[in-house]
Amino acid sequence: MINLKGNFENDINYLSNIIKQLRVDSEMRQEYFAQARRIRDQIYGPQVFFRGLIEISNFCARDCYYCGIRNSKKNVSRYRLTDEQILACCEIGYDIGYKTFVLQGGEDPYFSISDYIRIVSLIHSRWPDSAITLSLGEMEDCDYEQLFTAGATRYLLRHETADPRHYSKLHPEDQTLSNRLRCLESLKTIGYQTGAGMMIGTPYQTTQNLAADLLYLANFQPHMVGIGPFMPASGTPFTDKTAGDLIDTLIMLALTRILVPAVLMPATTALGSLDTEGRRLGLLAGANVLMPNLSPPDHRHDYLLYDGKIQANDDAKANHKLMDQIVKDAGMTVSSSRGDSAIWTYH
Ligand code: SAH
Repeated sequence: MINLKGNFENDINYLSNIIKQLRVDSEMRQEYFAQARRIRDQIYGPQVFFRGLIEISNFCARDCYYCGIRNSKKNVSRYRLTDEQILACCEIGYDIGYKTFVLQGGEDPYFSISDYIRIVSLIHSRWPDSAITLSLGEMEDCDYEQLFTAGATRYLLRHETADPRHYSKLHPEDQTLSNRLRCLESLKTIGYQTGAGMMIGTPYQTTQNLAADLLYLANFQPHMVGIGPFMPASGTPFTDKTAGDLIDTLIMLALTRILVPAVLMPATTALGSLDTEGRRLGLLAGANVLMPNLSPPDHRHDYLLYDGKIQANDDAKANHKLMDQIVKDAGMTVSSSRGDSAIWTYH
């Protein structure tokens, strides 16, 4: 369905044209979505993997222009969870049946690498049959290595946009795409199931940028890809910008599935926040992961990467019910396995 030729300029134009056609041709779009589902189901079956998300800190040293917990944003009630709070979140998730814990947070300077190692080791020894995913931003290779040794086997670090000029319009000067990509390369080399990804509809994004994202993903072949619409966050430089488009996001999910067949790909919370049907439609476009929020309810409303984030008030069990229904409505079933990548071997 998609034939890349290995020539950068040509491939970018080719992919841009496909995206443009898919935007206007709903029949063609449905064919691509069906193809994406077939590829997914051949590899994983029509199953959805649940990942319990624990937002461990909203302190952040970085200043990404789009992000609602960026360092210079005022009026954020900052928090970080204690070891006990994190373990309590895991326990609730494990009891519901989740076999993956995702620890996500801002780049919180208070946490040293030994703090992270301690937390990963605690979870790993208590729930050895569960996978630990980290989403804690950019680090040195030696830190990633130590965390892998401690028991984390997956790492999410969205590349955000594969075009360096576009990247520089979304981040301050001291944050570079080249460092982000260096981290992703290292994570994969160390042996992590590695997750890249991007927001759809960020300010200044062109169709060519989206094509460049697809080309990057096709070449890098990450184990996981997170794709969600950009959503404006109040108190940030992008507060007045328009949110990303639902159809564009679904198109990018389907094209990613076709180009990275074994990818584990969430129907993201941002997609569900943009549209009440967003996550079900994401599954129908080739996604196969949902990420229920396990963060303590009293801190949910403080981890607002963007305005209108859903689940801010739900408790874990209520949330699980809702997600279960989304899976059923998409004609899929909930997997009880850890849901490792089909192309990953632990080494
Ligand atoms: N500090 C970690 C986690 C960042 S939050 C890291 O650097 O990877 C996880 C993801 O949320 C980001 O990678 C970004 O793609 C997404 N995000 C942040 N702000 C957003 C917004 N306003 N709208 C939609 N997604 C956003």
